[in-house]
Amino acid sequence: MRTSGRMVAEVLALLKEKTLPGVTTLELDQIAEQECRRLKVKPAFKGYGGFPFTICASPNDRVVHGFPNQVPLQDGDIISIDFGLIANGFYGDSAYTLAVGRVSPAVKKLLEITAAALADGISAAVSQGRLTDISHAVQTRAEQHGYGVVRDFVGHGIGRALHEDPQIPNFGAAGQGPKLKPGMTLAVEPMINAGKAQVRLLDDGWTAVTQDGSLSAHFEHTIAITENGPEILTRL
Ligand code: MG
Ligand code: MG
Repeated sequence: MRTSGRMVAEVLALLKEKTLPGVTTLELDQIAEQECRRLKVKPAFKGYGGFPFTICASPNDRVVHGFPNQVPLQDGDIISIDFGLIANGFYGDSAYTLAVGRVSPAVKKLLEITAAALADGISAAVSQGRLTDISHAVQTRAEQHGYGVVRDFVGHGIGRALHEDPQIPNFGAAGQGPKLKPGMTLAVEPMINAGKAQVRLLDDGWTAVTQDGSLSAHFEHTIAITENGPEILTRL
């Protein structure tokens, strides 16, 4: 899991460098695919439930599972990129939202608070705690700022499969669900809307967008519960 996590982080670090005004998300997808070939690993999403690409690319009001396309990113856009791979039979899964060029302070804040909500959720992922301690920590941070916490998609266990039990909602009371134990590996992934929480699916059957057209951010890490606290695996 450490190996796959580190490789995911490497690829996302490269994509971050390439995410500039003028680049298309299809170009980013091709870079991710090339990197998987170089690392001799398989992309996790391509073919998963029929998903046709290596990355999910979800700009602006797209929440998750957007298809990469030939539309160049523009100065002032935000873009959520989600990427996973399989190395030696183990999955890694991580996502971030990047500002393309210059964005307003309000947009910057949405990205910072969503990243902070992820950090809070991870901090709550301690041995002998409960699963929804993570959920509650994420929700608390996001709602303090008046943001909408997406209900329709959740985090998940991860290991020899991309999506394993338990599901990890980004909302709810603390102190519930399974007890967290060393060795558990989880993908924690808040999806936070600048406006209301509701989302809808586009006709492609995959892309989720905010119902109210507000911007949406998504940050995700694969983590391991250890005796010494949570360990972020998808970080360099
Ligand atoms: Mg993901
Ligand atoms: Mg995930």
